[in-house]
Amino acid sequence: MDFDLPEPVRELAAQARAVAVELAAEAHLPEDSWLIGNDRDVARELGARKWLGMTWPVAEGGHGRSPLERFVVFEQLIANGAPIASSWFADRQIGPTLLQFGSPAQRRRFLPDIVAGTSAWCIGMSEPDAGSDVASLRTRAIPHGDGWRITGRKVWTSGAAHADWCYLVARTDPDAPPHAGLSEFLVDMRSPGVIVSPIVDMTGNQHFCEVVFDDVAVPGDLLVGAPNGSFKQLMRQMEHERGGIDRLVSNRALYIEARAHADHDDPLVRQEIAALESTYHIGRLLVLREMLGQAPKGFSAATKTICTEHEQRVARFCGRVAGTQAMLWNRVSRSICYAPGYTLMGGTTQILRNILGERVLGLPREPR
Ligand SMILES: Cc1cc2nc3c(=O)[nH]c(=O)nc-3n(C[C@H](O)[C@H](O)[C@H](O)COP(=O)(O)OP(=O)(O)OC[C@H]3O[C@@H](n4cnc5c(N)ncnc54)[C@H](O)[C@@H]3O)c2cc1C
Repeated sequence: MDFDLPEPVRELAAQARAVAVELAAEAHLPEDSWLIGNDRDVARELGARKWLGMTWPVAEGGHGRSPLERFVVFEQLIANGAPIASSWFADRQIGPTLLQFGSPAQRRRFLPDIVAGTSAWCIGMSEPDAGSDVASLRTRAIPHGDGWRITGRKVWTSGAAHADWCYLVARTDPDAPPHAGLSEFLVDMRSPGVIVSPIVDMTGNQHFCEVVFDDVAVPGDLLVGAPNGSFKQLMRQMEHERGGIDRLVSNRALYIEARAHADHDDPLVRQEIAALESTYHIGRLLVLREMLGQAPKGFSAATKTICTEHEQRVARFCGRVAGTQAMLWNRVSRSICYAPGYTLMGGTTQILRNILGERVLGLPREPR
């Protein structure tokens, strides 16, 4: 059996790698480039290369390419540190969500700019008192004329300071059971009443933000899918968010450098490298299975857990290889400080293990 990728796909991967290396050379950092590497020119370049909306139907403005082709392009871009954050959320999950749940008018209006790399999006789910438990979120959308007025506070909103649009979840029916009263909106970040305050993280970076919505007017045609039907839509959107290659290779560039400097004569180091290589290859196969639509429903919870725990082990390995150098502020120490976020964002490992146990494996719940 031939496990290698087909020749044209290998050629595409080589092309993407060359582009990524060039883009990364201009960038601030190769690590976590899909999340913190905001660069609108890079987004437009990806659009011009037809690398955005790659697998979306041609009739919807996409390029009709195969999931495998998209997989190798983004594996190379992210593993080599191309700063793709300005287009990543839209390409990874907003576009696919609009394709599935958006109205024809919404798809006609928003997909072309996403495919061209000219609109940047952020995701407004988490709130100060609603992270893991999205159903408890309090941001309210109240009917007003033909549209809505939205008031509330979102937090940890990645890329909000650069975004043109926010994919926002808000409560539309306060009397319904918590998970049944939520709806999704496309909110123009330039609307009066949107206040964005960047938050400085432990590494000094300011990629995520607090976003206040103070009586923001949203037209009625910008509600996505079913009114009060967000919960089901969100579950689908999270599959896009959790099962991708971004969860495996965020710090791959640093690992490759550390591996080259590691003491290969030390059997313990060799053993650690062997374990990291094995989990990397298992993770890559799991992501491929997600991309090809072969993973069981809900299994992205396992894929993300395995992949992001691998990224954390990579950060620790790089720290051990660097030794006392890791006490200084540099790429390694930054990576160690950043790593806890891998198993928080997109759903914490504890929550994902709950999903896996209860919804995927159907294990009995412990009686309360
Ligand atoms: C780098 C980064 C980027 C992010 N970007 C975005 C973004 O763009 N948009 C957005 O909306 N959000 C974003 N988030 C927020 C992220 O989705 C939340 O941090 C995450 O869902 C957890 O929510 P919380 O922080 O409120 O923690 P909590 O939900 O308060 O959880 C605290 C701890 O309790 C545990 N816990 C909670 N409930 C249970 C349970 N039922 N069983 C077992 N353990 C439990 C959790 O696992 C965690 O360890 C980002 C977070 C990070 C770190």
